[in-house]
Amino acid sequence: MLTCTAPVHRVSTLAEALAQRAAHPDATVLAGGTDLMVFLELGSVNPPAILDLWGCTELRGISEDGHTLGALSTWTDVARHPALPAALRDCARTVGAPQIQNRGTIGGNIVNASPAGDSLPMWLAMDAQFELASVRGVRQVPASAFWLGYRKTALAADELLTRVHLRPHADDRLHYRKVGTRLAQAISKVVLGARLRVVDGVVTEARVALGSVAPTPIRAHHVEAALVGRPLDAAAADAVAHDIAPIDDIRSTADYRRTVAANVIRAWLRDEAARSPDR
Ligand SMILES: Cc1cc2nc3c(=O)[nH]c(=O)nc-3n(C[C@H](O)[C@H](O)[C@H](O)COP(=O)(O)OP(=O)(O)OC[C@H]3O[C@@H](n4cnc5c(N)ncnc54)[C@H](O)[C@@H]3O)c2cc1C
Repeated sequence: MLTCTAPVHRVSTLAEALAQRAAHPDATVLAGGTDLMVFLELGSVNPPAILDLWGCTELRGISEDGHTLGALSTWTDVARHPALPAALRDCARTVGAPQIQNRGTIGGNIVNASPAGDSLPMWLAMDAQFELASVRGVRQVPASAFWLGYRKTALAADELLTRVHLRPHADDRLHYRKVGTRLAQAISKVVLGARLRVVDGVVTEARVALGSVAPTPIRAHHVEAALVGRPLDAAAADAVAHDIAPIDDIRSTADYRRTVAANVIRAWLRDEAARSPDR
């Protein structure tokens, strides 16, 4: 039963949101509430106050070119945006089910910092920049520097995540794969976000990011190193054994996660090689 009686500060502009954040740094931010309401219901958080951002329209919406996403953009917004990469839109369609996609936001997924958060490897793969704002100013933090430990982020107590910036490259190929128990309403056992750039048959850039295999989403640096500077070779997937040390938990075993992580990377690389044998 929900017993939270904390006062709710509801804001409708970014300036108001930042002023309220500075005035109440111990308040918990509410965006779509699809994570927070669960924690409140369980009693695992008991905030002294809540800062409700939902009415802050400035933080909603995705630029026409798909390069800037407001933190309050929902998964439905992402899934329907024609300029966003297909892999990111695929990712959006795997978050929960339509009810959650209509309410859950990208900012909530990023700041909630669950190692199983579906989108987190995608932001790593895309080298996304997170815009963090406070009354002190605005700073950009790369996704690779944002998740510091289990559910620990680089966000300061007076900051809000306001936008996500992407700089897509025309030659990049992005890939997303979630392995869960069902097609909907499933927490991932392994999730892969990946990006490749291949020039004249040689891999010039690779990002391979995984979720649900460590306390934070991680880059598989050994796999990336095995790919770059060579023709595309699916055997690079084997290097993931040096990148991850997953644990057994209620959703899966460490062995399963190790095997499946290598399998999803290998399958992606084989598909990429088959798509363009000449490159
Ligand atoms: C039934 C169900 C199914 C789900 N399925 C999935 C799934 O398949 N995959 C998945 O990844 N997740 C899933 N989730 C989790 C959740 O829906 C997502 O993480 C969603 O994106 C959270 O967004 P939100 O706006 O609802 O976050 P909220 O609950 O509003 O906030 C989450 C956290 O982020 C903080 N926060 C939110 N926005 C900001 C901001 N702009 N600045 C600073 N702090 C902020 C909040 O204080 C809170 O700590 C599921 C949840 C439910 C209830």
